[in-house]
Amino acid sequence: MAAGSAIQIPTQLPLLLTHESVLLPGSTMRTSVDSPRNMQLVRSRLLKGTSLRSTIIGVIPNTSDPTSDCDDLPNLHRIGTAALAVQVVGSNWPKPHYTLLVTGLCRFQILQLLKEKPYPVAEVQQLDRLEQFTNGHKSEEELGELSEQFYKYAVQLVEMLDISVPAVAKFRRLLDNLPREALPDILTSIIRTTNQEKLQILDAVRLEERFKLTIPLLVRQIEGLKLLQKTRKSKQDDDKRVVAIRPNRRISHGSITEDEEEEEDHDDVVMLEKKIRTSSMSEQALKVCLKEIKRLKKMPQSMPEYALTRNYLELMVELPWNKSTKDRLEIRAARIVLDNDHYAMEKLKKRVLEYLAVRQLKNNLKGPILCFVGPPGVGKTSVGRSIAKTLGREFHRIALGGVCDQSDIRGHRRTYVGSMPGRIINGLKTVGVNNPVFLLDEVDKLAKSLQGDPAAALLEVLDPEQNHSFTDHYLNVAFDLSQVLFIATANTTATIPPALLDRMEVIQVPGYTQEEKIEIAHRHLIPKQLEQHGLTPQQIQIPQVTTLGIITRYTREAGVRALDRKLGAICRAVALKVAEGQHKEAKPDRADVGEGEDCKDHITEDAKPESISDTADLALPPEMPILIDFHALKDILGPPMYDMEVSERLNQPGVAIGLAWTPLGGEIMFVEASRMDGEGQLTLTGQLGNVMKESAHLAISWLRSNAKRYQLTNASGSFDLLDNTDIHLHFPAGAVTKDGPSAGVTIVTCLASLFSGRLVCSDVAMTGEITLRGLVLPVGGIKDKVLAAHRAGLKRIIIPQRNEKDLEEIAAHVRQGLTFVLAGCLDEVLNAAFDGGFAAKARLEHLNSKL
Ligand code: ADP
Repeated sequence: MAAGSAIQIPTQLPLLLTHESVLLPGSTMRTSVDSPRNMQLVRSRLLKGTSLRSTIIGVIPNTSDPTSDCDDLPNLHRIGTAALAVQVVGSNWPKPHYTLLVTGLCRFQILQLLKEKPYPVAEVQQLDRLEQFTNGHKSEEELGELSEQFYKYAVQLVEMLDISVPAVAKFRRLLDNLPREALPDILTSIIRTTNQEKLQILDAVRLEERFKLTIPLLVRQIEGLKLLQKTRKSKQDDDKRVVAIRPNRRISHGSITEDEEEEEDHDDVVMLEKKIRTSSMSEQALKVCLKEIKRLKKMPQSMPEYALTRNYLELMVELPWNKSTKDRLEIRAARIVLDNDHYAMEKLKKRVLEYLAVRQLKNNLKGPILCFVGPPGVGKTSVGRSIAKTLGREFHRIALGGVCDQSDIRGHRRTYVGSMPGRIINGLKTVGVNNPVFLLDEVDKLAKSLQGDPAAALLEVLDPEQNHSFTDHYLNVAFDLSQVLFIATANTTATIPPALLDRMEVIQVPGYTQEEKIEIAHRHLIPKQLEQHGLTPQQIQIPQVTTLGIITRYTREAGVRALDRKLGAICRAVALKVAEGQHKEAKPDRADVGEGEDCKDHITEDAKPESISDTADLALPPEMPILIDFHALKDILGPPMYDMEVSERLNQPGVAIGLAWTPLGGEIMFVEASRMDGEGQLTLTGQLGNVMKESAHLAISWLRSNAKRYQLTNASGSFDLLDNTDIHLHFPAGAVTKDGPSAGVTIVTCLASLFSGRLVCSDVAMTGEITLRGLVLPVGGIKDKVLAAHRAGLKRIIIPQRNEKDLEEIAAHVRQGLTFVLAGCLDEVLNAAFDGGFAAKARLEHLNSKL
């Protein structure tokens, strides 16, 4: 047998039957073992065997699927590879199986099958007679030539691979060190070949034949690699060409001539440069831009900074450095625009017109910034818009609510990833002119954070001495903001940073009375809503009494925003009806249109003309115009949200109505008191601030010291009001924080009612700070408070005497319906708050007789 061979295999070999792969001598293969025969072989031979011989097995390829043949041994391929089992790994998941690592040694052929079960064993003959080649029995010339050719192809193939990969370098070395006869088998198992081709190589027992068969496979692989490299190269070339454009262009742009510019017009960077040069930016900005574009040209496009620089330059080009709209200011026209757009707000309109008049006379106004302060929905933003309209300027609103980072105003430095300009510069880019009206909305809601104080950044923006050279961090060059007209809005001045407030002229915009709201609704809101919903006055009719119903029962606000929303809801509902009606009108069977007109003038809650729900029930086209009465209101908006609760709540002693001011407008505020047996403690609830708590203590102290005068006693008849008595004072709407001194008079009145057992008049509201001596001091927000009382239907209002001047601001028709009591001391307050007064002497006699 193969006496001269370096490898001697046993004459009897257990056979491993493989289905999918072909093992060739000299290569290693991992194969999964799960058929019963192969499993048996692994268990009884490989796992139990102790000698090296027992690890040598015969691998027979191309067996039919081993899982499908359990009993009969399939036809076996005649030639196999003797192999050394190097590793066995067992696993139970997903079913019991082994993974076997085998290394091919040499070919063999089956002479005779010795046994079939539990695994096949055969008598074999070793086929690789390697000594034949070296001994030179065969035609050496031919073989030498073939092997040389093969070797050349193999080297060519390896050299096409990346030699820096360690496996490739190792393979290159192996090519030289291995005997040439081993190469066909090894290379066949390395290069891309099919199982069928491998099988052919395995069957090629003659070395010469093996070389002949392998060379075409090698050539095929080389050709494939060549093709691959070619396509890769062309792609790289494309990339390189893109990169190469830049350096070339740089050279051509060493000095720019007009001709060259013409030539490269297609190139957008050149276009950008052209735009920069032709834009009217400041000299400083131009210098920076030219420097940046020079850098841009040197940069490969793939660099992240390329996009950053480009964006920067594009912004610089887009900014309106010198572009402005022409002011067309004519005060009379401005007055008309303001009057047409807004009902009421006389004081605000007057001040705005003054401001505009000064602008007209003196072109460059370095005056203060106007700041409209008032509750939401009173038209602050909308007046700002009208100002822009009268001036013929662009309008841009910058919402500052919640801004807590100064880079929101001033931008991020360009070194930051995702850096961008601040809102001012962004706004300028949006409007495209350098003299727009900027409305800085909600300046009172600026916040501070670790990222700096945005209010400080705003100072620079608003200061006419500084803002001609405002420097945004992103731009890094000064931009002139002196032509921009800034208007600010806020709900309260309390939270505007003092330095900012100092630069602004505050104009208070108070809330509206019910009458004003009705007018605003009918003159402005309803026409706007109709237009937005595609309705006409011929389709919907909202009588004034309905509007009043919405104002009193569905909204409780100083402005008209909720009213506007409710009107919107009504319009939507009507739009649906109208659209449905149009659909049904296609096949009308009823033509009694026009009745709605008759009942529109006398709508009461009891009278029930055709309402929106009725038309739905009848499934008939609605009659035009659809009339919105109280029933329709209820259908669309649901049950009323607010009821007139004032009189109901004042039906027992110990309740009084105060007036409070909030950033959302004035509010009426109930104060309730009760007393119980105890040790003289005062309990205060309703989220009160310290000032309000102190007011409560002041009120009690004043009443205790004046108890005898007013004949006020506790439950046991003692003039010491806190003797064996606890007092609880509560301010409803407990979730809302309340503070301020103006509830003083209300607390006194409420406690006086509690201890005297008398009811406070149900139509009286009051406000005023108190002192220990019983004086009433002035308070703020009188106008809003009076409007709130008016809204709530109260008739008499007690205010501090020194607030008399504030009454002038209140519209005459509001004043007409109200009685004002100007109180200088608490005696006057109590006298006005109770029916028949609260005189000390009169009470004394009365109470004496009672006792
Ligand atoms: P604010 O800025 O004060 O919160 P807006 O300016 O946004 O309020 O006003 C809300 C809505 O109310 C706008 O549609 C506005 O046109 C309308 N509005 C407010 N006051 C008036 C008014 N006096 N005349 C006409 N419409 C008004």
